[in-house]
Amino acid sequence: MWLVLAWQRLARRASLVWSVTSLLIAMGITLIALRGQIHPWVSFVAANTLMLLAFLMLRHGVLRFVRRPTNSRRLPWLVLVFLATMTALERNGHHTLLASSCALLWGVILLHLAWIIARDLRIEFSPWLARVCALPLVGVALSFAPRALVLANDDSLQVSPGGGLAGALVMCATMLALNLSLVGLMVARIVLRLRHHSDHDPLTGLLNRRSMQTRMTSETTRVARYGGQFALLSIDIDHFKHVNDTRGHPAGDRVLCEVASTLRQLVRQVDSVARVGGEEFWVLLPATDAQGAMHMAQRMRMAVREGPQGVTVSIGVATAPVPTSLETVEALLHRLDDALYRAKREGRDRVILAPAPQEEATV
Ligand code: GH3
Ligand code: MG
Ligand code: MG
Repeated sequence: MWLVLAWQRLARRASLVWSVTSLLIAMGITLIALRGQIHPWVSFVAANTLMLLAFLMLRHGVLRFVRRPTNSRRLPWLVLVFLATMTALERNGHHTLLASSCALLWGVILLHLAWIIARDLRIEFSPWLARVCALPLVGVALSFAPRALVLANDDSLQVSPGGGLAGALVMCATMLALNLSLVGLMVARIVLRLRHHSDHDPLTGLLNRRSMQTRMTSETTRVARYGGQFALLSIDIDHFKHVNDTRGHPAGDRVLCEVASTLRQLVRQVDSVARVGGEEFWVLLPATDAQGAMHMAQRMRMAVREGPQGVTVSIGVATAPVPTSLETVEALLHRLDDALYRAKREGRDRVILAPAPQEEATV
């Protein structure tokens, strides 16, 4: 499964590392299952060293997944110390102590990983989702505590052939749960990314036309139900074709990004800014009347004009609903477009307020 995911370039590095993790765990579990049939050093020391390597790989993959630096210089020493300690325990016949302290160690490592996930995916996933994603790992980690207790009191560990079989089965189930939690992490990341791509413009990172239309529809519904007003600005860069023609397309793209960030910096948190076409932006201002919208539009016009991009913008402004009618979103956009067109026709670098539909009819 991890190899297929890596091949599909889904968290490629982490998936590759986790495929090695699974391989090491499978080898470790096989050796544990053979307890009583093979040399105890192999079924205790070698098996648990494989498990340790697996958990270290798991940690490496998690660090990769959360994009944190991985420092592996001390790891060979750690493995050597582990190997020496386990060999000493095994030689002295402390098999129960060996098995139960390993179980505890795995639990501690998993708790640590859960903490890394909850902390480092806070921004990307939101604190709530990061904690939810870490939770299954906490569950798996805690399941090692009773297991350590059982192992500590199990004298049959070494003597009975197949005595490791039950332990191996429990370990299999635990590792399945662990892998499922990792898959959950990947799915969460993919869903969040897809959602972001479907809502945002890749060049500027602003909302796209589709998500803006969704917001406008819900704003219209809200206003129809609870009253109040909202305003919409349509902002178009003047003579942008000329920018592309004289400075080149990449420079044009940079201008788009700079204008986008200027607009984003001026709005409140409740407002929405979208890039809806080549060099056209919409700004949705909830709970804003014509006067407030005109004020904001002029501020945006001046900010772009005085910015380093060397361009100006024309802005159409429309507010909704007009007191006497609840027009459709399409009709509102039509009025908005007319206002922008007038701003262009009257010389660009200006703001025009769309008249209400009734006024228009009488003109
Ligand atoms: P006006 O003042 O009337 O708005 O003139 P204009 O040149 O800005 O308008 P027009 O619609 O004629 O040209 C828009 C240009 O925007 C044409 C197109 O090549 C360019 N454009 C559209 N999308 C992009 C983009 O993503 N990047 C760049 N660099 N240019 C783009
Ligand atoms: Mg233009
Ligand atoms: Mg245009």
